[in-house]
Amino acid sequence: MYDLCIIGAGMIGSSAARHATLSSNNKVCLIGPSEPKERSKGNNCDIYGAYYDEARITRSCSTDVIWAKLALESIRRYRDIENKSGIKFYHEVGNIMAGAGSNSSFLKSVRSAAIQSNVETESFDAEMFRKHFSYLKVPDNVQAELETTNAGFINPRKLVEAEQTLASQQGCTIIDNVVHKIERIVCSDGTYAMKVVTDSGRCINARKVLLTTGAFTSFRQLVPYLKFDFQIIPRLVILAEVDFSTDAMKQMRSMPCFIYEGPPHKDWKMMDYVKGRQETSLYIMPPVKYPDGTV
Ligand SMILES: Cc1cc2nc3c(=O)[nH]c(=O)nc-3n(C[C@H](O)[C@H](O)[C@H](O)COP(=O)(O)OP(=O)(O)OC[C@H]3O[C@@H](n4cnc5c(N)ncnc54)[C@H](O)[C@@H]3O)c2cc1C
Repeated sequence: MYDLCIIGAGMIGSSAARHATLSSNNKVCLIGPSEPKERSKGNNCDIYGAYYDEARITRSCSTDVIWAKLALESIRRYRDIENKSGIKFYHEVGNIMAGAGSNSSFLKSVRSAAIQSNVETESFDAEMFRKHFSYLKVPDNVQAELETTNAGFINPRKLVEAEQTLASQQGCTIIDNVVHKIERIVCSDGTYAMKVVTDSGRCINARKVLLTTGAFTSFRQLVPYLKFDFQIIPRLVILAEVDFSTDAMKQMRSMPCFIYEGPPHKDWKMMDYVKGRQETSLYIMPPVKYPDGTV
C-alpha cells in the first residue's frame, strides 16, 4: 500500500513526486506513460503530455501576483535541481512582457504584480525597444518590461527527467502505464483506500491519490462522479525551422523570450479565428536547437 499515488508523470506530477519523497516516511509512486517514440495514428495512443518539446517560457512576470510569487519560488530552485540531478534544463535568457501604449492594461497589471511580488524588471519605451530588439516587428507604440534574471526558457523534457531522477533517488517508484480507473475501497481494518487500475490491468493501492493528468484528465474514469469545470480549446503553435547562419538569426541568438498582448501590428497576418479582434497575444521563443540538429 502506497501513502500517495501520483497519476500523470508530466511536469507537475514529476515535480510533485520529488517534493512528496523529500520525507522518507512517505511511500510514493508516480504513474504515467512515457513520451511515445512515434506520433502516428496507428500507435493506439490517445493520451499525450504538454511537455513533449524542447522549450517552454519560464518567467516570474505575470498579470497575477500569486503566479508571480509562485513562479519566482519555483525558478529559484532550478539550479539546485540541475546540480543535484546532473541534468541541465534551464536557460536564463530573460523574458519581455510587451503591450501597446502607456495605457496598456496588460502592462499595468504586469508592473503592479511585479512590484507586489518583488520581481525586478527594466522598463522599455518604444525607442529603447526598437534599439535593443530591432529584429522584432511590433506596433510603433510598444512598451515593455524586461526581466533578465529568474526568466528565460526551460527544456520541459529535461525538467521532467531531472525531477523523476531525484524522485526516484529519494525512493519514488515510477510506473510507465496509463491509469484506466480509480475506485475507493474499504480495507480489512475498516479504513478507506484508493484502488488504481491501469490500462494493462495492474492494480495499485494507495491511501491518497493526486491527479496531475493535465489536459487528458477526462479521457479515463479517474473521477467519473465529477464534471470538470474546464474545456479543451485550440491554440495555434508555429514551429518554424530557421537557418541559424544568417545575420538576422545571429542577432537573435541572445534574444530573450517575448510575450505580447495588445492590438496587432498592421503587417501581422491574423488567422481567421482571431481576425477582427481588437487585441491579440503571442509568445515567441528564441531559436532553440532540437535533438536532430535543426533550429
Ligand atoms: C505547445 C505548447 C506550448 C506551451 N508553452 C508554454 C510556455 O511557453 N510556458 C509555460 O509556462 N507553459 C507553456 N505551455 C503549458 C505547459 O506546457 C503546461 O502547462 C504544462 O506542461 C502542464 O503540466 P502538467 O504536468 O499539468 O501536464 P502535462 O505536462 O501534460 O502532464 C500530464 C501527464 O499526465 C499524463 N496522463 C494523462 N492522463 C493519464 C492517465 N489516465 N494515466 C496516467 N497518466 C496520464 C500524460 O501522459 C502527461 O504525461 C505550453 C503548452 C503547449 C502544449
